[in-house]
Amino acid sequence: MRYLVLSDIHANIDALDAVLSDAASEGYERVLVLGDLVGYGAEPNLVIERVRALEPAAVIRGNHDKVAAGLESAEGFNPTAQRAANWTRSALTEQNREYLRSLIAGPLVVDSLTLLCHGSPIDEDNYIFGEGDVVEALMASIRPLCLFGHTHMPMAASLSPDRTLDLIFHGPRDRQTIAIQTTWRYLVNPGSVGQPRDGDPRAAYAVWDTDAAAITIIRVEYPVVQASDRIIEAGLPQILGQRLSLGR
Ligand code: ZN
Repeated sequence: MRYLVLSDIHANIDALDAVLSDAASEGYERVLVLGDLVGYGAEPNLVIERVRALEPAAVIRGNHDKVAAGLESAEGFNPTAQRAANWTRSALTEQNREYLRSLIAGPLVVDSLTLLCHGSPIDEDNYIFGEGDVVEALMASIRPLCLFGHTHMPMAASLSPDRTLDLIFHGPRDRQTIAIQTTWRYLVNPGSVGQPRDGDPRAAYAVWDTDAAAITIIRVEYPVVQASDRIIEAGLPQILGQRLSLGR
């Protein structure tokens, strides 16, 4: 199976469309979505409709989806994220809000090789940043490959059967393929489609080929200015548009 892996789209339709067109040339069969379809960006309804049309094999919720769906308050967010969350909640159609409300929490087992989570396999809202977080998550993973998002930072790490940790990479890479040995454990963040934070403004996604036992993280240019203009025109905080061109 060749899975297209999408995470942290954040209502950025320009980035999502660029990724989908690039991914079509890579080739994939089914889609996995790691949460945060909405929040920050200006097109939550379009993004949800586009994702639904892909008929994903699995979609789990992110923290922004929970707030936009009204399942959680925006209190834990910083003031900019709060404003965006409130804007998103009122911009969503009732049908799309209901869709977000229906999304399940990770961790979610997809097949014999793959586990999905938004933050970490321990808690959907945890951030995996440091080595300690990485080891904890690898130990908690119940499949050889755990795919996660939430940090908007592409990353890969592995744990060998003798418990040796290898931080394969962390941060921007042009294109990176990681071979998956099924007796090892791996943690891979495909990066963020709609709001990269690794200093590279290009959209990030991954293709996970279970037959070839390899996952490739791919970067793709998209019309950043257009996405940024939409944010400003929508009346969302300007910083949310400006940060897209910095990839921060
Ligand atoms: Zn996110």
